[in-house]
Amino acid sequence: MQVTKTVKETRDIVKEWKREGLTVGLVPTMGFLHEGHASLIKRAREENDRVAVSVFVNPTQFGPNEDLEAYPRDFERDSALCEGIGADLIFHPEPEDMYDNPCAYVSIEKLSDNLCGKTRPVHFRGVCTVVSKLFNIVTPDRAYFGQKDAQQLAIIKKMVKDLNFDIEIIGCPIVREEDGLAKSSRNTYLNAEERKAALCLSRSVAKGQEIIKNGMKAEKLLGEMTEVINAEPLAKIDYVSVVDALTMEPVEKIDRPVLVAMAVYIGKTRLIDNFSWEPAEQ
Ligand code: AMP
Repeated sequence: MQVTKTVKETRDIVKEWKREGLTVGLVPTMGFLHEGHASLIKRAREENDRVAVSVFVNPTQFGPNEDLEAYPRDFERDSALCEGIGADLIFHPEPEDMYDNPCAYVSIEKLSDNLCGKTRPVHFRGVCTVVSKLFNIVTPDRAYFGQKDAQQLAIIKKMVKDLNFDIEIIGCPIVREEDGLAKSSRNTYLNAEERKAALCLSRSVAKGQEIIKNGMKAEKLLGEMTEVINAEPLAKIDYVSVVDALTMEPVEKIDRPVLVAMAVYIGKTRLIDNFSWEPAEQ
């Protein structure tokens, strides 16, 4: 496995792969890898001749009062995990290698307006910009993203379509801890009491999955899901919403493919979870 820091080294390696006619899968990450990331890298390993993983805590996707500095980092462990799965390359740039007084950004309108986009106004512009840069640097055939960040996945798919990136976007299922908590690098912020409290997210998701049905009012679904979270004293809801799976616009009635998503503060830690649902075919 090779580790690169600069854009040029990365491009040179990928160019050689392409010359040999090999296919390339890319897994973009912010590091501090866990089994959720591992599932993406494994899938990329199965479907491509070469697998590149990027490990980069991207400053442009963090707001001014967010956890950029505190975000956990452990490159040695990440590197061992990637090597164990059989990745061929880790691209691990410094912020200075990626950004030199930039004037160009990529933002995807409308789909970024709701859910996480509302509370984190610069977030998806930062994500779309860095992912576009990674696509241009690595030029993968396929790129892998988790459904854990369902709005991000929908936005990236729309970006690839609108901007004609010749890249297949593959969404992978949410990997959870045994007790249901969605795996996240941010789970390391939780103390023992908060870790228990954090289960209200997956419990609320399970409740939603149990009661959702065609024709139901969104208000009714959200009411019951919210109740599960509000029963937990350490939890503070940022949002719990039902949106159209493609446009990310709120729906009043459940009568089409939807994303049911939430962000909840457990103490100071903001956690997300979601499920997707679509009407059974008639
Ligand atoms: P991050 O390092 O948090 O930016 O995540 C990198 C990629 O891993 C994103 O596409 C995430 O959606 C995905 N990911 C993170 N956690 C999970 C999880 N628990 N299950 C599946 N994919 C995940």
